[in-house]
Amino acid sequence: MYHMISTPMDAEEARLACSPSLFRAQLSFLKENNYNFFSLSEAVNWIERKLPIPERSIIVTLDDGYLDNYKNAFPILSDLKVPATIFLVSDYMGKTNEWMARSSPNSNKTLLSWHQIHEMKKQGISFGGHTKHHVRLTDIDEETAFNEITECKQNIEDRLGEAIDFFAYPYGLFNTFHANVVKEAGYIAACSTNSGFNGPSTDIFKLRRLDIQGNDHKGRFKRKVEFGTNDGSINTAIRYYANRILRI
Ligand SMILES: [Zn+2]
Repeated sequence: MYHMISTPMDAEEARLACSPSLFRAQLSFLKENNYNFFSLSEAVNWIERKLPIPERSIIVTLDDGYLDNYKNAFPILSDLKVPATIFLVSDYMGKTNEWMARSSPNSNKTLLSWHQIHEMKKQGISFGGHTKHHVRLTDIDEETAFNEITECKQNIEDRLGEAIDFFAYPYGLFNTFHANVVKEAGYIAACSTNSGFNGPSTDIFKLRRLDIQGNDHKGRFKRKVEFGTNDGSINTAIRYYANRILRI
């Protein structure tokens, strides 16, 4: 899971922004190390049919729909032939990330226009829903949450003229009610922000994702992907191998 693909202004922004050169380096590293890229739809199809997902499979997703996804990520994804799904905040597309600007005015970023979304769609990028206003689903009443999930799907479908099959919970916040609404709204699967690998027993409305950040240089990135954890520290690798030895 990525957010912005642009050079972060500071360490705080690096939590959400990965520079274009690092993004390219990470994807190239995966290609060179025999990882294979699949679309979210291919992976969900395997899980639905309880089929094992091939080892070293990678699915790229980007949350929020920042303008830099078009300017910076799209050319790299096209060049490297990597499929990706971008989760859109339907009422804010063509505007700015108002949900973030409210708490920190310096974080004001422009989002994708519908024209850019259309252009990327034609080139094979897929899109999903991320609510209408990037709400904290667990903080709002059920009726508002229902509208945020269902109307987001409808809005994007009206704009793109195709079914929107995937949803991502903003901030990774959701409970059983929200997962059920997502299912009833007609989405086929939903992404959480819980880390880990996905397999035949994964709940497709709680898909796991790794949070890739702007300071995930080679070693950290490699450990995150290899061990399926957001903790890319060296300790993770030591713990992993220690557990393996204990299991023998
Ligand atoms: Zn988001």
